Amino acid sequence: MTDILNLIKEKDPGEVEFFQAVKEVVETINPVLERNPEYRQAAIMERITEPERVIIFRVPWVDDQGQVRVNRGFRIEMNSAIGPYKGGLRFHPSVSLSILKFLAFEQVFKNALTTLPMGGGKGGSDFDPKGKSDNEVMRFCQSFMSELFRHIGSNTDVPAGDIGVGAREIGYLFGMYKKLRNEFTGVLTGKSLSWGGSLIRPEATGYGNVYFAAEMLATRNQTLDGKTCLVSGSGNVAQFTIEKLIQLGAKVVTLSDSSGYIYDESGIDAGKLEYIKRLKNVRRGRIKEYAEKYPEAVYTDADISLGYNPLWNHKASCALPCATENEIKEKDAQNLMNNGIILVSEGANMPSTPEAINIFLDKKILYAPGKASNAGGVAVSGLEMAQNSMRINWPREEVDNRLKTIMKSIHKTCLNAAAEYNEPGNYMAGANIAGFVKVVNAMLDQGV
Ligand code: GLU
Repeated sequence: MTDILNLIKEKDPGEVEFFQAVKEVVETINPVLERNPEYRQAAIMERITEPERVIIFRVPWVDDQGQVRVNRGFRIEMNSAIGPYKGGLRFHPSVSLSILKFLAFEQVFKNALTTLPMGGGKGGSDFDPKGKSDNEVMRFCQSFMSELFRHIGSNTDVPAGDIGVGAREIGYLFGMYKKLRNEFTGVLTGKSLSWGGSLIRPEATGYGNVYFAAEMLATRNQTLDGKTCLVSGSGNVAQFTIEKLIQLGAKVVTLSDSSGYIYDESGIDAGKLEYIKRLKNVRRGRIKEYAEKYPEAVYTDADISLGYNPLWNHKASCALPCATENEIKEKDAQNLMNNGIILVSEGANMPSTPEAINIFLDKKILYAPGKASNAGGVAVSGLEMAQNSMRINWPREEVDNRLKTIMKSIHKTCLNAAAEYNEPGNYMAGANIAGFVKVVNAMLDQGV
């Protein structure tokens, strides 16, 4: 199995995030490969780690001063064995080929777990929406779509949002697609309700994450009621993770952005959450302002020189990382253990480093990898695609019930696959194995 890892190191030197994501999967699916020797002849590992198509393009746009700026755009069409490529677009200065390949690779397995027919893809740009005016964001989105449109379509590749891409950006992107193609189709998900969006799509990743956490706790005859929770991030995923946690009686004491974090010992209640939504989604302000508005909260500036994040060093039972990749390092995992954590449910993609995951698995806490616990977002994207195809809108309750059913099914699928391969209770192994087997069987059915 080290063959494939060596091959990737040789072929894609420096793609550290992609390598990390592949390594995690490779290490857990070994027993599957041993049981199925025909996979080797079919070069399954080489095929599944090689994107079907990678598109890299120039995105020129004009800023408010009239200055032309240039960013790089990407779309990774990773795997279409079980459906059209599906996955978000990320606009963030850290975006690189390696980061998008890791996200696209994860997306393949995640989408397979949702029970819906979606392949895996991911895209985005190193464009930084922070500090940009609405008009600048619009011009950037229009330029981005003026190239992307020729590669996507409702039966080909269906992008959505991710970090830095929310309802506003999806609107500008959709408007441009429609001008270029003169067709109104479900080519993007995360659309606004009045023009083809689905109820519960904004809430889906966060709600799904909490539904998954509740399922995990139920295996130990526990509930979220009364549990203290640490949540990182303050964007869409964090907001609706907090909302559902509050509804289920949990107490959330932290949240963060790239500048720092707040600790509110009294708990973030529904009123405070409304303030956060306005602060982040309408005013696009910084989380620091929360501590100015609510003096009972303590704000701490981010300090990467520490090598750990003090957010993860508070007494709590559950941790739900909803910010970004590799945000929980080894020391953070140790701190979590020392603070009594019994559950980690990932709202972000790959937020825990391999060293941190080893600690969670070693201590046998309830640990859910993002590709299982944050699959609710793309699952409701799949439901949005279904509604668009039928040209109808399901009511809120129907979508929420379907989301709940899907999260329960993912939970069960992970546990069953883990048990079948002698890793009882290991959701990471279960998610990787179940996603892998489904995609590989489809690839084999369809020939070389
Ligand atoms: N960006 C989200 C994810 O990581 C959602 C993707 C989608 O809805 O297509 O799964």
